[in-house]
Amino acid sequence: MSELSRRDFLKGSLAGAASLAMAGIGLSAVNTAAHADGIYTPGTYSATADGMGTVTVTATFDANSITEILLDVSGETPSIGQAAKDELISQVMAAQSAEIDGVSSATITSTAVKTALKNCIAQAKGEAVNSGSVKPLVQSDGAFILKDITADDVNASAVELEPITNFAKEIDVDVVVAGAGASGVIAAVRAAELGATVAVLQKEAVAVSQGNCSSAIIKSGSTPGGLKKWLTFATAVNCWRNNRKLLEAYIDRSEEALRFVCEKSGITEETEWKNKYGVTKYQDTSAVYTGVWHDGTQSYDFGDEKVEVFAPWFGPKPGNYGSLVSGILKDAQEEYGDKLQVFFSTPIVQLVKDADGTIIGCVGKDIDGNYIKFNAKSVILATGAYENNATMVRRFCPDIEKFDKKVVHRTGDGNILAIEAGGCMEPVAHSRVMHDFDAGLMWDEPPYLIVNMNGERFIDEEVDMAYISNALRWQPGFKGENMDPEHQETGSIGWYCQIYDNDYMSYANGPVPDFVMARYLKEGPAEDHVSVFPELIDTFKADTIEELAEKLGLPVEKTVETFNRYNELCEKGEDEDFGKPAKYLHAFKTAPFWGIRRHIRCSSITAGVLSDEYGRVTTEDGEVIKGLYAVGNLGGQFYGAPDYPFFHPGLSLGHAVTFGYIAGEHAAQNR
Ligand SMILES: Cc1cc2nc3c(=O)[nH]c(=O)nc-3n(C[C@H](O)[C@H](O)[C@H](O)COP(=O)(O)OP(=O)(O)OC[C@H]3O[C@@H](n4cnc5c(N)ncnc54)[C@H](O)[C@@H]3O)c2cc1C
Repeated sequence: MSELSRRDFLKGSLAGAASLAMAGIGLSAVNTAAHADGIYTPGTYSATADGMGTVTVTATFDANSITEILLDVSGETPSIGQAAKDELISQVMAAQSAEIDGVSSATITSTAVKTALKNCIAQAKGEAVNSGSVKPLVQSDGAFILKDITADDVNASAVELEPITNFAKEIDVDVVVAGAGASGVIAAVRAAELGATVAVLQKEAVAVSQGNCSSAIIKSGSTPGGLKKWLTFATAVNCWRNNRKLLEAYIDRSEEALRFVCEKSGITEETEWKNKYGVTKYQDTSAVYTGVWHDGTQSYDFGDEKVEVFAPWFGPKPGNYGSLVSGILKDAQEEYGDKLQVFFSTPIVQLVKDADGTIIGCVGKDIDGNYIKFNAKSVILATGAYENNATMVRRFCPDIEKFDKKVVHRTGDGNILAIEAGGCMEPVAHSRVMHDFDAGLMWDEPPYLIVNMNGERFIDEEVDMAYISNALRWQPGFKGENMDPEHQETGSIGWYCQIYDNDYMSYANGPVPDFVMARYLKEGPAEDHVSVFPELIDTFKADTIEELAEKLGLPVEKTVETFNRYNELCEKGEDEDFGKPAKYLHAFKTAPFWGIRRHIRCSSITAGVLSDEYGRVTTEDGEVIKGLYAVGNLGGQFYGAPDYPFFHPGLSLGHAVTFGYIAGEHAAQNR
């Protein structure tokens, strides 16, 4: 895009409440009058900031103090952000400022409260709200302002396109990593280990990532033929569209990268797989693929060849990869001191280029709205994907629009920055990870019944959860818990119920102890809710199917009809309705009956911008953009099919840490 046409579109304006509201900082009153007799102009002031939803702080001031705080956190997760409300209010009243610790289990809500309160205080002091905290908006006329990117995309992101010149400070480092998640933390620590000076810019107040299982290929335990077969299968499930070189890089380097994660987190055989932060390897799905390997309805024949996969699970829940990388980053800060600086609540908002288009740094924006310029030899973008950018989702991954999302604030910042630097969105279907492993126990075999929220059967239950999400696009929506704010009125899609009887374990998975089953019971005692996300469990049991239907929010009559028909088919030994194999047909006879209300949400979009086997961003013609890397979900194209492949456990995190490791190393070595 030419400079001339860009300037035409970059007519951002700071003025006006509309701009402020769109930037996520709504102000009820900006009072610029002097306050002669005290610190504040007495009155009530209100401001909003982005938490999980929108957080509103309403603060009342007398001349010298905050006298009352009201928080509207109704858009926050009930058991997390909403539960933190009273504690946040008492911290603010005690501190009489926005400099509070916040609630450690509710960092996103805490940060939003602090941001909005700072604005209330600025208003009460009669200060113009720091103009730097308000993002200049790009005029929106629906047109593309960059290749692949519209003004609405940019306005929903942290990116600022208008040139920034007013820096509060400048910092020189070798490598900047933007995003302290799975790939970013590993990139930063690997670069620091190789002697580079590193700055990490993180949007949130803490390191954030998700998931528990990552994986690597152990080359020494695999046969050369097995590795080639793995490449073929991994390419085939991605519709033959992925860049084979990226898969080869994963085969070559993933073991080293995952061992690095284990060593840096202190979770190794020597420490009995646990670390000082309480994160442990609590489960292991490592395996050797040989012979015929099944993945739900698909099979892969490795013949006599073999592929060894290391797939540790770190947690247990509610601990996750966020807890893991948070500990790694903390330890690295101690180890490398000034050589690894971390800037929390400071998103990257702009890249800095020289006249040739080489990336020579970037700009971060701190919580007070100050711009910090980082001069660097390389910038590694590790900002995740764009699940929370509505217009980008609509264009690049429309399948997920009506589904809720499991992450927040992933607004495609890295995509937009990379494209602005000359990069290109992956020009194929964008893969996405759709699942719910949290509402109830996962069962490996499908002799259960699945119904939609109208109580109707809609699929052969043998189909994998990953693909059920596709069928759910044609099923009715539902209004349950943990829905995105934009779906609160209409309900979201992605809901279904899995029903079975008390004998399930005798004909399916083998015994699971009662106390493990009980952990998922929503109506069970809170002390049983260990190793789960309490706010996400949604399993019920009841003595009758009628009672179970009521608990699950299903229409009773229809559910009973479906249940009876299913039992009839099981008795016949033939699924005339959906063709489920006879070996999975077991009539439900033994109460209590169990039901899990699954809520499939989008965990990740595993697609981003084109990058090469070192994680370097390329143009659409494959030309490397000097100084710029994109890793984790942002780097592609590692996948290529609409559905993320589940045949290889933990591939998404495995890919993220491998490419973080490779890019951190490459950037450090080429500094
Ligand atoms: C609930 C859940 C469970 C999952 N389970 C698994 C699993 O078991 N196994 C698996 O393989 N995958 C799993 N995934 C997917 C996996 O978490 C992601 O694919 C992986 O985290 C991607 O790594 P990443 O580094 O690209 O992004 P992330 O780990 O998401 O990190 C991106 C980081 O960038 C930060 N950021 C965003 N914008 C900016 C900005 N402008 N400036 C600075 N920082 C920014 C974010 O705050 C975040 O910390 C799961 C996902 C979810 C949501």
